[in-house]
Amino acid sequence: MKHRIIVLGAGYTGAAAAGRLARRLHRDDVAITLVNADPDFVERVRLHQLAAGQDIGYRPLDEMFAGTGVELMTAKVTGVDADRKAVTVVGTSAGTGTDVRELEYDTLVYALGSGWNDQDVPGAAEHAHEVASRPGALRLRERLAGLAAGQPVVVVGGGLTGLEAATEIAEARPDLAVALAVRGGLGDHLSDKGRGHLRKVFGGLGITVHEHTAVTGVEADRVTTAGGGAIPAAVTVWATGFAVHPVARATTLETTGTGQIVVDATMRSVSHPEVYAVGDAAMATGPGEKPLRMSCASGTPTAWQAADAVAARLTGGKLPRIPVRYFNQCVSLGRREGLIQRVTADDRPIEAALTGRLAAVGKELICKGAAWAVANPTLGLPVRRRRVVREAARTGPSARASA
Ligand SMILES: Cc1cc2nc3c(=O)[nH]c(=O)nc-3n(C[C@H](O)[C@H](O)[C@H](O)COP(=O)(O)OP(=O)(O)OC[C@H]3O[C@@H](n4cnc5c(N)ncnc54)[C@H](O)[C@@H]3O)c2cc1C
Repeated sequence: MKHRIIVLGAGYTGAAAAGRLARRLHRDDVAITLVNADPDFVERVRLHQLAAGQDIGYRPLDEMFAGTGVELMTAKVTGVDADRKAVTVVGTSAGTGTDVRELEYDTLVYALGSGWNDQDVPGAAEHAHEVASRPGALRLRERLAGLAAGQPVVVVGGGLTGLEAATEIAEARPDLAVALAVRGGLGDHLSDKGRGHLRKVFGGLGITVHEHTAVTGVEADRVTTAGGGAIPAAVTVWATGFAVHPVARATTLETTGTGQIVVDATMRSVSHPEVYAVGDAAMATGPGEKPLRMSCASGTPTAWQAADAVAARLTGGKLPRIPVRYFNQCVSLGRREGLIQRVTADDRPIEAALTGRLAAVGKELICKGAAWAVANPTLGLPVRRRRVVREAARTGPSARASA
């Protein structure tokens, strides 16, 4: 009987993990199933571009995985029973309507990523738009297209997604009155050079920046702020961070208060050794034992780490240690401007930053590279599919937990 590996989520990390596992393990020994709600791979890092009216293209997963041996299943994951080692999925099959199924696994890789985080701010869920999911970005795109010249758009959140969304919208629609509300100062988390560049670009695009402004409520035509103020907003874009999907929190897996699965250095659940978690869904630590930021930059190496650890444990190989560290924060500021902020291994900015057109080109190459890494998870290195050790296949990787 083959060792059954189920990968949940085919975003940057799940797709990379599934592809890498298929290139590491012998097809006669394992059955790898990749479950995703959408039939396409979504380039999430480009969703602000989609919202601003650009076409970012579709990448059907069946084309990406053709010939790899990975079986694709388009279905929504609704539950994981980590004690019984089973996953519940809901799909739609032609003519029969909703189709609820239970899938059993020997090894699970959980990579369901994250969505937007309304942080329970009153009115945000009802009135605000988001760019963390493709449906959300498409809704915002339609709403922006319906706005008349001069109407106000407020982006809430001064992190990387907020900066990217505000500049992309302002560049695409210079006729709109775009504003950004940030809790601290603009670019507080960047170097002096990075901050200075940000101010220049925001000024050039005519974006009004409301610094030291905490948004406390969202209404249909404005946002309200701490201290009793209000900013007019025909459209509010909420970009104050991401929240993981609730599936993991409803299991017996050990999770953080926010629902991320707690993993060890090999991305294996600390409570259930046959479960691995990667990307945004995992609470993993990087250099200095600091929790990793939800990002492709650190998420993709966690996928490689998990895949290689599963393969090593199943084949009796040496456990690999893939370095997970940061090099840059790469920010697009519209299509013509960008900022590549050099950072320390644990993500703190240093006084070195690339700006301007060159940075915009650099960021575009990084987005292309991230998508390429998903389709080429062994980074073009020779494929070596190893045989699974019988004992490990039968009892699962937990049998080799001490490896
Ligand atoms: C606008 C934007 C810009 C960004 N820019 C950058 C950047 O420049 N650099 C960077 O490093 N990071 C960036 N990020 C963050 C980055 O996109 C995420 O950290 C990354 O996508 C996480 O990868 P993941 O595989 O964990 O999750 P995802 O890429 O979100 O993939 C999760 C997958 O699981 C699927 N899924 C979710 N729930 C279910 C379910 N119940 N059933 C079945 N399938 C499900 C989803 O459809 C998706 O395919 C950006 C994010 C956004 C929104």
